[in-house]
Amino acid sequence: MISLSRSTRALGLCAAVGALAFGTGHSIPAMADDAHEAHYRLFVGDHADGVVRAFDIHDGAAAGTFEIDQTPALTRSESGRTLFAVQGDTGKVAVISTGISFEDHGDHADLKVEDAALLDVAIEGVKPAHVVEGSGRIALFDDGSGDVSLFAESGVLDGNFEPRILKPGAAHHGLAAPMGDHLVVSVPHENADEPRVGLKVVDADGDQVGEVVSCPGVHGQAQSARLFAFGCRDGIVIASPGTGGEAPTLRHVPTADLGEGNVSTLKGGTAMTYFLGNYGPSSVVVIEPGDETGFTKIDLPTRRVDFALDPALPRNAYVLTEDGQLHLIDIVAGTIAQSAAVTEPYSMDGHWRDPRPRLAVAGDRIALTDPREGVVRLISTETLEETGTIEIEGTPYTIVTVGGSGAVHDHE
Ligand code: ZN
Ligand code: ZN
Repeated sequence: MISLSRSTRALGLCAAVGALAFGTGHSIPAMADDAHEAHYRLFVGDHADGVVRAFDIHDGAAAGTFEIDQTPALTRSESGRTLFAVQGDTGKVAVISTGISFEDHGDHADLKVEDAALLDVAIEGVKPAHVVEGSGRIALFDDGSGDVSLFAESGVLDGNFEPRILKPGAAHHGLAAPMGDHLVVSVPHENADEPRVGLKVVDADGDQVGEVVSCPGVHGQAQSARLFAFGCRDGIVIASPGTGGEAPTLRHVPTADLGEGNVSTLKGGTAMTYFLGNYGPSSVVVIEPGDETGFTKIDLPTRRVDFALDPALPRNAYVLTEDGQLHLIDIVAGTIAQSAAVTEPYSMDGHWRDPRPRLAVAGDRIALTDPREGVVRLISTETLEETGTIEIEGTPYTIVTVGGSGAVHDHE
């Protein structure tokens, strides 16, 4: 269980520095007569066509349509300035500048809203897949080659895209997480048909440091504070940063006590240090890392469709289940605090890639794609009531939100 005192302390920290780093939408302290403005933009990937559509949340106005090659997986950068549209089967990653940025002015941040744009940068590979950011660097893992491209966000935005390419091992559905000057990377089985065996640390040259840590079938990762967590078939691995340039340390924690299931998708808390993972088809698990890693499994009424954390309200996470109910999870209590019907049922029977809703959080709204109805539903994080819809062409599917609030004023 996550203690209340800690959450209070974390909240204070978040209000001071968290908004900038995580784009969470907290109001930022500013000079007394400054105007404050909030601006949130959502990006929606189509389920059938290679297109990403952008919308501004406050008025639902279109903010750009970006033609790409294939229905994309979407990952945003931590700053929210960049969106990666990964198209594995075509070997490409399109990069979109979201147009929303914050400039740090010490005691406050200035909000800048520009047009979103598809950048000229071409990231190509054999079968690019997971994009993971950490320690100010972004690592793109190429499942088709096993290579890792390592680069800074600023290079992508400035048109100076010169990734460092590391070759930590053979091709597999893998991942790489930057931690300081090191990376944590997945390790394939010698036989490509067998599940991935674990994780290892590599240095800046891609050379292994220390032993491989067992993490069968490793899939899914998230960062919270300076820790990374990874999902395994028999538990999780927590990676802690090394001190003074030393390599991070990896620790496997079993989850057998939680019963049938395993963690393969993770989200990391921003203002509080915790992870939320899937566990079997009808549960989620709150993971509190520490000397004694704590697990709180929360059973859902039906099977899980998607889940998201609330960066502005650190106690809150939201889970949509196949009966069309949206559940507010109280992370601290480890319970479902509230539930509301928000869509028609979306059965989890059928193909895992069938069009089903996905959710993201933008300020005090949950934005949820409803592919069958061709809309994004905006839902209050406070009441779970729908406050509006945005009609979207095609079949809205993957969704990412960016934005926050900041000062809008002239600087001499
Ligand atoms: Zn300013
Ligand atoms: Zn994957």
